[in-house]
Amino acid sequence: MDLQSLTIKEVHKSLKNKTFSSKELTTSLLDRIEKIEPKIDSYLESTPELALKQAERTDKLIQSNQEISVLSGIPVSVKDVVVTRGIKTTAGSRILENFIPPYSATIYDRLLEENAVILGKTNMDEFAMGSSTENSAFKITKNPWNLNKVPGGSSGGSAASVSSGMATYSIGSDTGGSIRQPAALCGVVGMKPTYGRVSRYGLIAMASSLDQIGPITKTVEDSAIVLNAISGYDPKDSNCIDKKFSDFTASIGKDIKNLKIGVPNEFFDEGVDVKVKNIVEVAIKHLEDLGAKIEEISLPHSREAVAVYYLIMPSEVSANMARFDGIRYGYGRDKFGDEVKRRIMLGTYALSSGYYDDYYLKAAKVRTLIRMEFKEAFEKVNVILGPTSPTVAFDIGEKASNPLQMYLADILSVSQNLAGLPAISIPCGFVDGLPVGLQITGNHWEEEKILNVAHVYEQSTNWHKQNPKL
Ligand code: GLN
Repeated sequence: MDLQSLTIKEVHKSLKNKTFSSKELTTSLLDRIEKIEPKIDSYLESTPELALKQAERTDKLIQSNQEISVLSGIPVSVKDVVVTRGIKTTAGSRILENFIPPYSATIYDRLLEENAVILGKTNMDEFAMGSSTENSAFKITKNPWNLNKVPGGSSGGSAASVSSGMATYSIGSDTGGSIRQPAALCGVVGMKPTYGRVSRYGLIAMASSLDQIGPITKTVEDSAIVLNAISGYDPKDSNCIDKKFSDFTASIGKDIKNLKIGVPNEFFDEGVDVKVKNIVEVAIKHLEDLGAKIEEISLPHSREAVAVYYLIMPSEVSANMARFDGIRYGYGRDKFGDEVKRRIMLGTYALSSGYYDDYYLKAAKVRTLIRMEFKEAFEKVNVILGPTSPTVAFDIGEKASNPLQMYLADILSVSQNLAGLPAISIPCGFVDGLPVGLQITGNHWEEEKILNVAHVYEQSTNWHKQNPKL
């Protein structure tokens, strides 16, 4: 059996039925990593011994006929921005090149409580700043569909590890698209939950009012399964809301007759590649055929989203990066890469007296307008649809020396972070052999709705079943 292409759901069932053991599964993925990783470079650190030890724990439970949780014994890769006790955590930066944290992020503790099998830490743009994973201080991850292309970013290592069968699922972080965009470019499912749904404690902060942790998986149902495990109140993150949530897997499988889908014309502006647009339009038509009501809407301020994001985000970055002073963590500030330095300078400038009112404050006001526009839209429609990324995966090196070009890769994904909304990207077709992502955005705390639409679409198409040939 081809163990590396199985979903969480399938693996869980097989483990319970004793079709194979967690150790067999883990060994098969570790073999896969040994074979494929030299081509893809998705891991910064792998932890095979830990993984095998964790696998044995689940196998013992199964052998003694005890209940196992749904993630028990299932191999996961974790973005290297998540602090993992005793395991090197670099955030893709030379500053933290040898940092072994003395504590763990809440998300990591939750995975351990579930008896997850930790395969290792994945490559990323330095401190999550980028859209291609080329800003990693250590290596460039390749897109499994075409090794000359980027996997997207900043969670490029995570998305590539799932797409290439080197992890059953992965944990990423999303500040302006970093889960959804690499998921789109690698042909997998990436979900950014509502801001406050998942604890950020131990997630190395990039821009605190925008950061959110979420799953990268092979299917929508797997996304719901992981979301169940990682959501919930944490007293260590004051933005994490104490809100009861029901089983996200129970929300999927409902029919979408009369569901109102809003399609903002701004999400199909000139900056979006015509071939990508066409594919997404076909996907929307497909949902209409399944009974959804499609309504054209307008979100005029989303045109300003990139400008707003590239003021708010660097302002918060400039504050968050201050802790890396060479005294408390890691090495000196000369070790920061160019993109991090650029953002510290931009943010410091936007916050400085004399410029604060013109830049930071104005951006904060437009952020509120963006949020209000979404709020009004959700009075009329249930979910909002569009592409995740304006293009498919681009060439390695194509945008690396042009930050503005790179920032434009984020036009369709930053508004959701500015408004704190949940959004999911799912595969919906190919352009020139490269995957296209369909993005579904929901109202605050309405992950159920986007998961359901995404699942209905996925189950009536075959895109998620395609795997890159490696
Ligand atoms: N690409 C965006 C940026 O460079 C988003 C990054 C992220 O979500 N971490 O800021």
